[in-house]
Amino acid sequence: MGLLIVGSLALDTVITPFDKVEGALGGSATYISLAASYFSGPVELVGVVGNDFPDEYVRMLEDHGVDLEGLQKEEGKTFRWGGKYHYDLNVRDTLFTDLNVFEKFDPVIPEKFKKSKYVCLGNIDPTLQLKVLEQMIEPQLVVCDTMNYWIEGKKEELLQLLKRVDVLIINDSETRLLVQEPNLIKASKMIMDLGPQTLIIKKGEHGAMLFTDETIFSAPAYPMEMIYDPTGAGDSFAGGFTGYLFKTRDLSPNNLKSAVIYGSSMASFCVEKFSTKGLEELSYLQIQDRYREFLNISRIDETE
Ligand code: AMP
Repeated sequence: MGLLIVGSLALDTVITPFDKVEGALGGSATYISLAASYFSGPVELVGVVGNDFPDEYVRMLEDHGVDLEGLQKEEGKTFRWGGKYHYDLNVRDTLFTDLNVFEKFDPVIPEKFKKSKYVCLGNIDPTLQLKVLEQMIEPQLVVCDTMNYWIEGKKEELLQLLKRVDVLIINDSETRLLVQEPNLIKASKMIMDLGPQTLIIKKGEHGAMLFTDETIFSAPAYPMEMIYDPTGAGDSFAGGFTGYLFKTRDLSPNNLKSAVIYGSSMASFCVEKFSTKGLEELSYLQIQDRYREFLNISRIDETE
């Protein structure tokens, strides 16, 4: 049984202060699957593309061992998203969100994926995320990502979904938006009352925080001199985090902390290059090296 990933596959237009690309491979499921593929297989993807989706992108995912039996190909255009980053790369404006084939997407989980115990719901309409869970047979760990677009547009559906989610991964501004509370510690408690036993708050170049009933853990971000394209960092985090938990099958508090560092490592690789390029040619050894570097930058020796 594999790690089931559901989300968007997209053709992105990305503008940064350094460059502009159109029709680049993107989408939440794409980044999550690629990041998770380095940990343990099989990675099972469920999503939809239009007939304009290039074959080379399909082949690249297959080359990473991603099982595409759940990928639907429909008449029409692939989901398209455009984003523009400011000089401060933490700030992004969404230029457009064209749902296209996503508008009618009905996620059908292939029979052989239904018993998968680990599920990662990438950022898509919470109604669809819920539909996925309804088809799964007793998943053990449900990890979920979402964004302001759905918090503002589909709040009720999102609240229904959260009752069935074990780990929610969102960023700091989405956290505040979801529960209308400016203080992140208070907000984390309010979110955990909505369902998830574990919450991860991503803070861009300031790292990520993990909250459980008993633990608060703060992980740094990797100190990078050059961030080329931040798109997909959050999804790569989710892929690394869930992929590592799937590989180790250990949900202890300490292992959750390691998973946060592996997630952060995958996010750091993602932003080094445009689109998915930073995730396409890695080795597990490189990932472990970055994991160790992460440990080193936050380790101190006890003093008197
Ligand atoms: P991130 O930078 O981690 O927030 O992820 C960006 C990716 O999410 C891009 O590749 C987009 O194609 C995809 N994306 C953006 N908005 C949405 C949306 N409303 N639903 C699904 N996927 C989206």
